[in-house]
Amino acid sequence: MRLLVTGGAGFIGSNFVRYWCEAHPEDNVVVLDALTYAGCRESLSEVEDKIDFIHGDMGDKVLVEQVLREHRIDVVVNFAAESHNSLAIIDPQRFFNTNVMSTLGLLDACRSVGVARLHHVSTCEVYGDLALDSNDSFNEASPYRPRTPYNASKAASDHAVRSYYYTYGLPISITNCANNYGPYQFPEKVIPLFATNALDDLPLPLYSSKDNKREWIHVLDHARAIDMVIDNGEVGETYHVGTELERSVEELADQILSILNKPSSLKTIVPDRPSHDRRYLLDSSKIRGALGWEPIYDFQSGLEDTVRWYRDNRAWWEPLKKRAPVDESGVLWSER
Ligand code: NAD
Repeated sequence: MRLLVTGGAGFIGSNFVRYWCEAHPEDNVVVLDALTYAGCRESLSEVEDKIDFIHGDMGDKVLVEQVLREHRIDVVVNFAAESHNSLAIIDPQRFFNTNVMSTLGLLDACRSVGVARLHHVSTCEVYGDLALDSNDSFNEASPYRPRTPYNASKAASDHAVRSYYYTYGLPISITNCANNYGPYQFPEKVIPLFATNALDDLPLPLYSSKDNKREWIHVLDHARAIDMVIDNGEVGETYHVGTELERSVEELADQILSILNKPSSLKTIVPDRPSHDRRYLLDSSKIRGALGWEPIYDFQSGLEDTVRWYRDNRAWWEPLKKRAPVDESGVLWSER
């Protein structure tokens, strides 16, 4: 198979590329990434000699058409996005430009050249939020009720992708996934931020809504789910990928501090952000029943390995932390 991975220099994309090169060594993998502040070539260093890397924007239709033709691409997997929910509150235009308008460039290129599958990676956040004590979860038929600019831009991109299936017959599939954790995540996101701050004895900034919960999945469980959807998932279908493993933000901080043997006094409360979603929970019975996918990573040991990875890879995250966007308070992070 010949695979194009857009956004492959980001957190999930780079883990997916490493996973794919190991699971399918006979395949050709091309990565297209705009290398925004969140993109990092070094995240692909372990597979550098196994892939073709192209620095470019997925919204550049002419470029994407050329890549699709020259590399005779069968399947496109789209991870490219602006992904930092808190940054979207400060700079929403940037999120709609990338997550909606650039996605359209990719869709149009796929439509004009033709591909066997365009798989689009989305999020649980398109559905809005749940009460902390609710027994509900979101399934694939739940209505979209995004409440923040990031969530709305992701919702719009999902709608655009689906519209190309219904209108032009573009063979698409979509996965909406819970919060991923693992190595190579930009230190603006909660687990790498808390781990790297704790390593340096810096405060862990907890938004005052520290009881908000998130559902966590190891990034390689997510990568395997996408592989199964590309392989056996129905064209035009959406699959949820979640674990039902929930942690509040404060529980996560406590767990990370305990792994690193650091004092709980490092926890510091900071003012909440607007329209902060309390909780999301995905019903993943469709992918489990139809494709036989199950998560295999245990959260405690997966988190320990992840925190140790940040301890051992300071050279990777230190330069990224210096270029991370900040607001006037100097704190800007998202709990994912
Ligand atoms: P990330 O911010 O780490 O990576 C995004 C990558 O996209 C970066 O390498 C960036 O340079 C690249 N990019 C941005 N704009 C581009 C463009 N126009 N053309 C080409 N490349 C571009 O994000 P992530 O956490 O790896 O998320 C990947 C995808 O998964 C996103 O669509 C996100 O919404 C979705 N998602 C993430 C999570 C999570 O927990 N991180 C959960 C569910 C869904």
